[in-house]
Amino acid sequence: MKNLIKKAALEHILSREELIEILRDDSCSEELYKAADGVRQKYVGDEIHLRALIEFSNICRNNCCYCGLRRDNKNIERYRIDEETIFKLAEHAVKVMGLKTIVLQSGEDMFYTTEKLERLLQRIKKLDVAITLSIGEKTLKEYQAYKKSGADRFLLRIETTDKDLYLRYDPGMSWEQRAQCLQDLKKAGLELGSGCLVGLPGQTTESYADDILFFKKIGADMIGVGPFIAHPDTPLRNASGGTLQMALKVMALTRLLLPDINIPATTAMESLAPNGQKKALQSGANVIMPNVTLTTYRRHYELYPGKSNTGYTPDESLQKVKDLISSIGRKVGQDFGTSKHFSNNFNK
Ligand code: SAM
Ligand code: SF4
Repeated sequence: MKNLIKKAALEHILSREELIEILRDDSCSEELYKAADGVRQKYVGDEIHLRALIEFSNICRNNCCYCGLRRDNKNIERYRIDEETIFKLAEHAVKVMGLKTIVLQSGEDMFYTTEKLERLLQRIKKLDVAITLSIGEKTLKEYQAYKKSGADRFLLRIETTDKDLYLRYDPGMSWEQRAQCLQDLKKAGLELGSGCLVGLPGQTTESYADDILFFKKIGADMIGVGPFIAHPDTPLRNASGGTLQMALKVMALTRLLLPDINIPATTAMESLAPNGQKKALQSGANVIMPNVTLTTYRRHYELYPGKSNTGYTPDESLQKVKDLISSIGRKVGQDFGTSKHFSNNFNK
Protein backbone atom coordinates (compact mmCIF):
# COMPACT_ATOMS: atom_id res chain seq x y z
CA MET A 1 0.00 0.00 0.00
CA LYS A 2 2.83 2.38 0.88
CA ASN A 3 4.41 1.70 -2.53
CA LEU A 4 1.11 2.45 -4.25
CA ILE A 5 0.91 5.80 -2.48
CA LYS A 6 4.54 6.57 -3.36
CA LYS A 7 3.86 5.72 -6.99
CA ALA A 8 0.81 8.00 -7.08
CA ALA A 9 2.82 10.85 -5.53
CA LEU A 10 5.34 10.57 -8.36
CA GLU A 11 3.18 9.69 -11.35
CA HIS A 12 -0.25 11.16 -10.39
CA ILE A 13 -2.02 8.12 -11.78
CA LEU A 14 -4.05 5.46 -9.98
CA SER A 15 -6.54 3.00 -11.41
CA ARG A 16 -10.07 2.74 -10.04
CA GLU A 17 -9.09 -0.51 -8.29
CA GLU A 18 -6.00 1.08 -6.73
CA LEU A 19 -8.03 4.06 -5.48
CA ILE A 20 -10.56 1.69 -3.90
CA GLU A 21 -7.79 -0.31 -2.26
CA ILE A 22 -6.34 2.82 -0.62
CA LEU A 23 -9.77 4.15 0.38
CA ARG A 24 -10.56 0.84 2.11
CA ASP A 25 -7.33 0.57 4.07
CA ASP A 26 -7.30 2.93 7.04
CA SER A 27 -3.92 1.73 8.26
CA CYS A 28 -2.21 3.86 5.60
CA SER A 29 -4.13 7.13 6.14
CA GLU A 30 -1.21 9.01 7.68
CA GLU A 31 1.12 8.00 4.81
CA LEU A 32 -1.52 9.18 2.37
CA TYR A 33 -1.91 12.58 4.10
CA LYS A 34 1.87 13.01 4.16
CA ALA A 35 2.24 12.16 0.49
CA ALA A 36 -0.54 14.62 -0.45
CA ASP A 37 1.14 17.30 1.68
CA GLY A 38 4.40 16.72 -0.23
CA VAL A 39 2.68 16.95 -3.63
CA ARG A 40 0.90 20.12 -2.51
CA GLN A 41 4.21 21.69 -1.53
CA LYS A 42 5.93 20.67 -4.75
CA TYR A 43 3.22 21.88 -7.13
CA VAL A 44 1.45 24.81 -5.44
CA GLY A 45 3.89 25.82 -2.70
CA ASP A 46 3.44 26.83 0.91
CA GLU A 47 1.09 29.76 0.39
CA ILE A 48 -2.49 29.41 1.58
CA HIS A 49 -4.91 31.51 -0.45
CA LEU A 50 -7.71 33.21 1.42
CA ARG A 51 -11.14 33.74 -0.13
CA ALA A 52 -13.75 36.06 1.37
CA LEU A 53 -17.00 34.11 1.43
CA ILE A 54 -20.24 36.12 1.16
CA GLU A 55 -23.39 34.02 1.55
CA PHE A 56 -25.74 36.52 -0.05
CA SER A 57 -29.05 34.60 -0.17
CA ASN A 58 -30.35 31.44 1.48
CA ILE A 59 -33.36 31.22 -0.83
CA CYS A 60 -33.30 28.17 -3.07
CA ARG A 61 -35.62 26.73 -5.71
CA ASN A 62 -34.09 23.26 -5.30
CA ASN A 63 -34.85 20.59 -2.78
CA CYS A 64 -31.59 18.70 -2.22
CA CYS A 65 -32.31 16.15 0.50
CA TYR A 66 -29.08 16.87 2.39
CA CYS A 67 -29.21 20.66 2.52
CA GLY A 68 -30.76 22.90 5.16
CA LEU A 69 -31.51 25.55 2.52
CA ARG A 70 -33.78 23.19 0.56
CA ARG A 71 -37.06 24.67 -0.68
CA ASP A 72 -39.28 22.56 1.60
CA ASN A 73 -37.51 23.53 4.80
CA LYS A 74 -39.99 25.85 6.50
CA ASN A 75 -37.97 26.13 9.73
CA ILE A 76 -35.55 28.60 8.30
CA GLU A 77 -35.69 32.37 8.18
CA ARG A 78 -35.00 33.29 4.57
CA TYR A 79 -32.92 36.33 3.62
CA ARG A 80 -31.53 38.12 0.61
CA ILE A 81 -28.74 40.65 0.99
CA ASP A 82 -29.31 43.67 -1.21
CA GLU A 83 -26.83 44.66 -3.89
CA GLU A 84 -25.48 47.67 -2.03
CA THR A 85 -24.80 45.66 1.15
CA ILE A 86 -23.12 42.85 -0.81
CA PHE A 87 -20.88 45.45 -2.43
CA LYS A 88 -20.05 47.00 0.96
CA LEU A 89 -19.15 43.57 2.39
CA ALA A 90 -16.88 42.94 -0.60
CA GLU A 91 -15.32 46.39 -0.25
CA HIS A 92 -14.61 45.79 3.44
CA ALA A 93 -13.07 42.39 2.65
CA VAL A 94 -10.76 43.92 0.04
CA LYS A 95 -9.90 47.32 1.47
CA VAL A 96 -9.87 46.62 5.20
CA MET A 97 -9.20 42.90 5.46
CA GLY A 98 -6.81 42.79 2.47
CA LEU A 99 -8.44 39.74 0.85
CA LYS A 100 -7.88 39.14 -2.86
CA THR A 101 -10.80 36.91 -3.84
CA ILE A 102 -14.50 37.40 -3.20
CA VAL A 103 -16.69 34.28 -3.29
CA LEU A 104 -20.38 35.02 -3.82
CA GLN A 105 -22.45 32.03 -2.77
CA SER A 106 -26.20 31.46 -2.54
CA GLY A 107 -29.05 29.04 -3.03
CA GLU A 108 -30.52 29.01 -6.53
CA ASP A 109 -32.36 32.28 -6.04
CA MET A 110 -33.95 33.56 -9.24
CA PHE A 111 -34.25 37.08 -7.80
CA TYR A 112 -30.65 37.80 -8.81
CA THR A 113 -31.13 38.00 -12.55
CA THR A 114 -28.20 38.01 -14.95
CA GLU A 115 -28.62 41.77 -15.28
CA LYS A 116 -28.41 42.33 -11.51
CA LEU A 117 -25.41 40.01 -11.21
CA GLU A 118 -23.62 41.69 -14.12
CA ARG A 119 -24.03 45.07 -12.43
CA LEU A 120 -22.76 43.72 -9.12
CA LEU A 121 -19.81 41.86 -10.68
CA GLN A 122 -18.72 44.95 -12.61
CA ARG A 123 -18.81 47.04 -9.43
CA ILE A 124 -16.89 44.49 -7.36
CA LYS A 125 -14.34 43.98 -10.15
CA LYS A 126 -13.37 47.65 -9.89
CA LEU A 127 -11.95 46.81 -6.45
CA ASP A 128 -9.21 44.89 -8.32
CA VAL A 129 -10.11 41.50 -6.89
CA ALA A 130 -10.70 37.98 -8.22
CA ILE A 131 -14.34 36.87 -8.12
CA THR A 132 -15.74 33.37 -7.65
CA LEU A 133 -19.41 32.55 -8.06
CA SER A 134 -21.21 29.61 -6.46
CA ILE A 135 -24.85 30.11 -7.40
CA GLY A 136 -25.86 26.82 -9.01
CA GLU A 137 -26.94 25.69 -12.44
CA LYS A 138 -27.21 28.32 -15.20
CA THR A 139 -27.01 28.37 -18.99
CA LEU A 140 -23.81 28.70 -21.02
CA LYS A 141 -24.93 32.19 -22.02
CA GLU A 142 -25.29 33.21 -18.39
CA TYR A 143 -21.86 31.79 -17.49
CA GLN A 144 -20.39 33.74 -20.41
CA ALA A 145 -22.11 36.91 -19.22
CA TYR A 146 -20.69 36.48 -15.69
CA LYS A 147 -17.22 35.98 -17.13
CA LYS A 148 -17.56 39.09 -19.28
CA SER A 149 -18.63 41.12 -16.26
CA GLY A 150 -15.63 40.13 -14.15
CA ALA A 151 -16.20 36.65 -12.69
CA ASP A 152 -13.03 34.54 -12.79
CA ARG A 153 -14.12 31.26 -11.22
CA PHE A 154 -17.20 29.17 -10.50
CA LEU A 155 -17.85 26.44 -7.93
CA LEU A 156 -20.40 23.76 -8.77
CA ARG A 157 -19.96 20.46 -7.02
CA ILE A 158 -21.09 17.33 -8.85
CA GLU A 159 -21.95 16.14 -5.28
CA THR A 160 -21.65 12.47 -6.30
CA THR A 161 -20.90 10.66 -9.55
CA ASP A 162 -23.30 7.89 -8.53
CA LYS A 163 -26.21 8.83 -10.80
CA ASP A 164 -28.78 6.75 -8.87
CA LEU A 165 -27.83 8.44 -5.62
CA TYR A 166 -27.90 11.86 -7.28
CA LEU A 167 -31.40 11.16 -8.56
CA ARG A 168 -32.49 10.09 -5.08
CA TYR A 169 -31.02 13.04 -3.18
CA ASP A 170 -31.49 15.82 -5.73
CA PRO A 171 -35.14 15.38 -6.69
CA GLY A 172 -36.18 17.25 -9.82
CA MET A 173 -32.57 17.75 -10.87
CA SER A 174 -30.57 15.86 -13.48
CA TRP A 175 -27.02 14.54 -13.12
CA GLU A 176 -26.46 14.95 -16.85
CA GLN A 177 -27.54 18.59 -16.64
CA ARG A 178 -25.10 19.23 -13.80
CA ALA A 179 -22.29 17.59 -15.77
CA GLN A 180 -23.27 19.72 -18.78
CA CYS A 181 -23.00 22.86 -16.61
CA LEU A 182 -19.43 21.88 -15.73
CA GLN A 183 -18.60 21.63 -19.44
CA ASP A 184 -20.27 24.98 -20.08
CA LEU A 185 -18.29 26.64 -17.30
CA LYS A 186 -15.09 25.48 -18.93
CA LYS A 187 -16.30 26.68 -22.31
CA ALA A 188 -17.08 30.08 -20.80
CA GLY A 189 -13.43 30.34 -19.72
CA LEU A 190 -14.09 30.33 -16.00
CA GLU A 191 -11.77 28.52 -13.60
CA LEU A 192 -13.67 25.31 -13.00
CA GLY A 193 -14.40 24.35 -9.40
CA SER A 194 -16.28 21.19 -8.50
CA GLY A 195 -16.25 18.62 -5.75
CA CYS A 196 -18.29 16.08 -3.84
CA LEU A 197 -19.92 15.24 -0.58
CA VAL A 198 -18.57 12.36 1.48
CA GLY A 199 -20.84 10.29 3.69
CA LEU A 200 -24.26 10.47 2.03
CA PRO A 201 -26.12 7.24 2.79
CA GLY A 202 -25.27 4.81 -0.02
CA GLN A 203 -21.96 6.38 -1.07
CA THR A 204 -19.23 3.73 -1.29
CA THR A 205 -15.47 3.56 -1.74
CA GLU A 206 -16.24 2.66 -5.38
CA SER A 207 -18.23 5.85 -5.87
CA TYR A 208 -15.52 8.02 -4.23
CA ALA A 209 -12.98 6.47 -6.61
CA ASP A 210 -15.29 7.40 -9.50
CA ASP A 211 -15.63 10.94 -8.11
CA ILE A 212 -11.84 11.41 -8.07
CA LEU A 213 -11.45 10.04 -11.60
CA PHE A 214 -14.30 12.30 -12.72
CA PHE A 215 -12.49 15.39 -11.33
CA LYS A 216 -9.48 14.46 -13.43
CA LYS A 217 -11.56 13.78 -16.52
CA ILE A 218 -13.31 17.16 -16.49
CA GLY A 219 -10.01 18.99 -16.00
CA ALA A 220 -11.07 20.68 -12.76
CA ASP A 221 -9.04 23.67 -11.54
CA MET A 222 -10.34 23.48 -7.96
CA ILE A 223 -11.97 20.68 -5.95
CA GLY A 224 -13.81 20.96 -2.65
CA VAL A 225 -14.51 17.79 -0.68
CA GLY A 226 -17.03 18.17 2.12
CA PRO A 227 -18.13 15.63 4.69
CA PHE A 228 -21.93 15.44 4.69
CA ILE A 229 -23.42 16.54 8.01
CA ALA A 230 -27.08 15.65 8.62
CA HIS A 231 -29.49 18.54 9.12
CA PRO A 232 -32.53 17.93 11.39
CA ASP A 233 -34.95 19.70 9.04
CA THR A 234 -34.16 17.55 5.99
CA PRO A 235 -35.18 14.05 4.88
CA LEU A 236 -31.66 12.83 5.75
CA ARG A 237 -32.00 13.95 9.38
CA ASN A 238 -31.27 10.47 10.77
CA ALA A 239 -28.25 9.74 8.60
CA SER A 240 -24.97 9.28 10.42
CA GLY A 241 -23.05 11.51 8.01
CA GLY A 242 -19.49 11.51 6.77
CA THR A 243 -16.31 11.07 8.76
CA LEU A 244 -13.37 13.46 8.73
CA GLN A 245 -11.08 10.55 7.92
CA MET A 246 -12.89 9.52 4.74
CA ALA A 247 -13.25 13.15 3.61
CA LEU A 248 -9.51 13.70 4.16
CA LYS A 249 -8.66 10.52 2.28
CA VAL A 250 -10.78 11.52 -0.73
CA MET A 251 -9.23 15.00 -0.61
CA ALA A 252 -5.66 13.68 -0.29
CA LEU A 253 -6.14 11.26 -3.20
CA THR A 254 -7.53 14.13 -5.26
CA ARG A 255 -4.30 16.06 -4.56
CA LEU A 256 -2.18 13.06 -5.63
CA LEU A 257 -4.02 12.73 -8.95
CA LEU A 258 -4.58 16.44 -9.67
CA PRO A 259 -1.34 17.91 -8.30
CA ASP A 260 -1.60 21.55 -9.44
CA ILE A 261 -5.23 22.39 -8.60
CA ASN A 262 -6.52 24.50 -5.70
CA ILE A 263 -8.10 22.55 -2.84
CA PRO A 264 -9.90 24.24 0.06
CA ALA A 265 -9.84 23.04 3.63
CA THR A 266 -13.64 23.05 3.83
CA THR A 267 -15.75 24.54 6.60
CA ALA A 268 -17.62 21.23 6.98
CA MET A 269 -14.32 19.56 7.95
CA GLU A 270 -13.86 22.05 10.78
CA SER A 271 -17.49 21.69 11.87
CA LEU A 272 -17.03 17.94 12.15
CA ALA A 273 -13.90 17.97 14.27
CA PRO A 274 -11.81 20.61 15.99
CA ASN A 275 -8.62 21.06 13.94
CA GLY A 276 -10.37 19.53 10.90
CA GLN A 277 -9.21 22.39 8.68
CA LYS A 278 -5.70 22.28 10.10
CA LYS A 279 -5.47 18.58 9.31
CA ALA A 280 -6.81 19.29 5.80
CA LEU A 281 -4.15 21.99 5.21
CA GLN A 282 -1.55 19.37 6.16
CA SER A 283 -3.08 16.72 3.88
CA GLY A 284 -3.16 18.47 0.51
CA ALA A 285 -5.30 21.61 0.90
CA ASN A 286 -3.98 25.09 0.01
CA VAL A 287 -7.06 27.35 0.25
CA ILE A 288 -9.28 28.54 3.08
CA MET A 289 -12.44 30.62 2.88
CA PRO A 290 -13.03 32.91 5.86
CA ASN A 291 -16.68 33.88 6.08
CA VAL A 292 -17.21 37.65 5.81
CA THR A 293 -21.02 37.57 5.80
CA LEU A 294 -22.52 39.65 8.60
CA THR A 295 -23.28 37.52 11.66
CA THR A 296 -26.99 38.46 11.52
CA TYR A 297 -27.36 36.69 8.17
CA ARG A 298 -24.78 34.01 8.66
CA ARG A 299 -26.70 32.10 11.30
CA HIS A 300 -29.52 31.57 8.79
CA TYR A 301 -27.21 30.07 6.14
CA GLU A 302 -27.40 26.76 7.87
CA LEU A 303 -26.55 24.03 5.36
CA TYR A 304 -25.95 21.73 8.32
CA PRO A 305 -26.06 22.21 12.08
CA GLY A 306 -23.02 23.59 13.90
CA LYS A 307 -21.61 25.23 10.76
CA SER A 308 -18.25 26.34 12.07
CA ASN A 309 -17.57 29.98 12.94
CA THR A 310 -21.25 30.93 12.98
CA GLY A 311 -20.79 33.18 16.00
CA TYR A 312 -17.73 35.08 14.77
CA THR A 313 -17.59 38.51 13.18
CA PRO A 314 -15.83 38.72 9.78
CA ASP A 315 -12.71 40.22 11.38
CA GLU A 316 -12.63 37.49 14.05
CA SER A 317 -13.02 34.77 11.39
CA LEU A 318 -10.07 36.19 9.47
CA GLN A 319 -7.87 36.42 12.56
CA LYS A 320 -8.64 32.80 13.45
CA VAL A 321 -7.60 31.70 9.98
CA LYS A 322 -4.38 33.73 10.06
CA ASP A 323 -3.48 32.29 13.47
CA LEU A 324 -4.05 28.81 12.12
CA ILE A 325 -1.81 29.45 9.10
CA SER A 326 1.08 30.75 11.18
CA SER A 327 0.67 27.91 13.71
CA ILE A 328 1.55 25.41 10.97
CA GLY A 329 4.44 27.45 9.56
CA ARG A 330 2.73 28.39 6.29
CA LYS A 331 2.10 31.84 4.81
CA VAL A 332 -0.85 33.77 3.48
CA GLY A 333 -0.89 34.03 -0.34
CA GLN A 334 -0.20 37.56 -1.55
CA ASP A 335 -1.63 37.32 -5.08
CA PHE A 336 -5.03 36.34 -6.50
CA GLY A 337 -4.22 32.66 -6.01
CA THR A 338 -5.31 31.63 -9.49
CA SER A 339 -5.31 27.86 -9.87
CA LYS A 340 -1.93 26.76 -11.28
CA HIS A 341 -3.80 24.12 -13.23
CA PHE A 342 -5.82 26.88 -14.91
CA SER A 343 -2.75 29.06 -15.66
CA ASN A 344 -0.77 26.04 -16.91
CA ASN A 345 -3.51 25.05 -19.34
CA PHE A 346 -4.91 28.41 -20.33
CA ASN A 347 -3.13 28.79 -23.64
CA LYS A 348 -3.15 25.14 -24.61
N1 SAM B 1 -26.69 26.32 -4.35
C1 SAM B 1 -25.39 26.19 -4.90
C2 SAM B 1 -25.08 24.76 -5.24
O1 SAM B 1 -25.76 23.87 -4.76
O2 SAM B 1 -24.13 24.56 -6.03
C3 SAM B 1 -24.30 26.74 -4.00
C4 SAM B 1 -24.54 26.71 -2.53
S1 SAM B 1 -24.64 25.08 -1.82
C5 SAM B 1 -25.21 25.43 -0.22
C6 SAM B 1 -22.91 24.69 -1.58
C7 SAM B 1 -22.59 23.27 -1.20
O3 SAM B 1 -23.04 23.00 0.12
C8 SAM B 1 -23.22 22.18 -2.02
O4 SAM B 1 -22.53 21.96 -3.22
C9 SAM B 1 -23.17 20.98 -1.07
O5 SAM B 1 -22.11 20.09 -1.40
C10 SAM B 1 -22.90 21.62 0.30
N2 SAM B 1 -23.84 21.14 1.32
C11 SAM B 1 -25.18 21.24 1.29
N3 SAM B 1 -25.71 20.60 2.35
C12 SAM B 1 -24.69 20.08 3.07
C13 SAM B 1 -24.61 19.28 4.26
N4 SAM B 1 -25.70 18.92 4.91
N5 SAM B 1 -23.39 18.91 4.70
C14 SAM B 1 -22.28 19.30 4.04
N6 SAM B 1 -22.29 20.05 2.91
C15 SAM B 1 -23.50 20.42 2.42
FE1 SF4 C 1 -30.08 24.72 -2.97
FE2 SF4 C 1 -27.44 24.35 -3.25
FE3 SF4 C 1 -28.72 23.61 -0.99
FE4 SF4 C 1 -29.18 22.23 -3.21
S1 SF4 C 1 -27.20 22.40 -2.13
S2 SF4 C 1 -30.76 22.99 -1.77
S3 SF4 C 1 -29.06 23.84 -4.76
S4 SF4 C 1 -28.45 25.67 -1.75
